This record gives sequence, structure tokens and C-alpha cells, in this order.
Amino acid sequence: MAMRKPMVAGNWKMNGSLATARALLQGIVAGATKQEQVDLLVLPPFVYLEKAQIELKNTGVAWGAQNLSREKSGAFTGEISGDMLTDLGCQYVLVGHSERRSLFGEDNETVADKAVAAQVAGLTPIVCVGETLAEYEAEQTFNIVSQQLNAVIMRPSIQLDNFVLAYEPVWAIGTGHTATPEQAQAVQAYLREQVAQRDEAVASQLRILYGGSVKPDNAAGLFAQEDIDGGLIGGASLKASDFLAIADAANH
Ligand code: PEP
Repeated sequence: MAMRKPMVAGNWKMNGSLATARALLQGIVAGATKQEQVDLLVLPPFVYLEKAQIELKNTGVAWGAQNLSREKSGAFTGEISGDMLTDLGCQYVLVGHSERRSLFGEDNETVADKAVAAQVAGLTPIVCVGETLAEYEAEQTFNIVSQQLNAVIMRPSIQLDNFVLAYEPVWAIGTGHTATPEQAQAVQAYLREQVAQRDEAVASQLRILYGGSVKPDNAAGLFAQEDIDGGLIGGASLKASDFLAIADAANH
């Protein structure tokens, strides 16, 4: 019994131009047929969010950002606040993507601050967790993801019923080495169990996405798993037909 509506989110990262962003948005709208059964969502670079708002308004495809500031407003040159994202019609924002953690020094507390800031602004944070290859090889996966998750869900001000979780093993991101459905399922069941220790009802409704080299030909196997409620898609989200094929695979 599927109680949870699947979600498929496209993380465009720092790719594209105004012209390719518009074409990709239009391609997704033209081909999207399953919005009733699957929450479809794109995460373009900040500067294309206004285009997303124009192209996606009233289409059933949602949009969000890849990052936000933990601050509300003020002297934070170069930062983007949650309120600015809400103003552009964003419903979601990624927090703690592994590239933010590894390349921009975001630790678990920063990620928790950002998750809270997102909720305060009226956004739903998509909290990303995942172990590196070295941590995987050292059999630290459960340890690492539980620390990453708990930093967020133990915050007194977090709204537990307003976030999405994404499990993205770092060794699977952009590498072509997808986790097997069984590997991902084991970690995701564990993550759900961690949330259940705080609130069982919330845990049973929580959407946990898998991310890491999801492609049209491996998506169905992953999404068939009990605790995999959709995907966070990087590379394959840059081609409308691939992204839509993955969305179709989530419609089961
Ligand atoms: C990502 O960066 O969130 C991701 C899952 O990338 P890819 O699909 O390219 O592995």
C-alpha cells in the first residue's frame, strides 16, 4: 500500500544557460503527464528560478532552489534568503547536498540551520545525507547518515512533518556507480527507523528519495523498494526525456 506520493526532483547543479534552461522547462512541461501520481520538481540555478516561475506556473510541476542562506536578511554579500525563494514561487530547497558539504564546508550544524531557515521561510527542505567512499569502505555508512540526519531532526525548532529526506551515497553521485536497490533500501529503512524513534506517524509519511546515478534504465528497480519514495536526479535531469522517463518509473 503506497501511502506516500512519490517525488522525482531534478538537481540541475551549475549547468545551462538562459536558453537551455527555458528549453528544458518547456520540454518537461510538454511531456509531463503523471503529475497526479508523482510530485515532479526541478531545482535550477538561482538565476533561472524566475524563468521556472514563468514556465511552470499552473502546470503541476513545482520548482525550488539548490541552496539558501541560514540568515534571514542583511549584510551577507552574495547570499540568497529563504524569503527570496518563496517570493519566486519556490516550494522546496535542497540543503546539505554532498557538494555543499565537501566543496563549501557545510557541516551538520550548518545544514540543520539551513533546514530550519527554509521552514521559517515557508519552504520544504530536502535534506541530503550520504557517506563518502572511504566511509562506505570503513563500514561507517549507518553511523554517518544517522549523525547527518539527527543533527536536523533533533533541532527543537524543526517541523518534523515538513521535510523530505534524500539518501545520496557520495560514491554514487555523478559516477555511474548506482547503489543496488537492496543497498539503498537497507540505508533508507534505517533512516526511516531513526525518524520513527522521534515520531512514528511522521516517519511513516516521510518521503525518502534515493540519489546517485539514477537513470531511466535503473530507476524502476530502485523505486520498487519499500522505503524508496522517488529520486533526486542530477545528470539525467538535464534531458527532459530522461527526466520524464524516470518520473514515469516512479508511478507504480
Ligand atoms: C545529485 O547530485 O543529487 C545526483 C544524484 O547526481 P547524479 O544523478 O548525476 O548522480
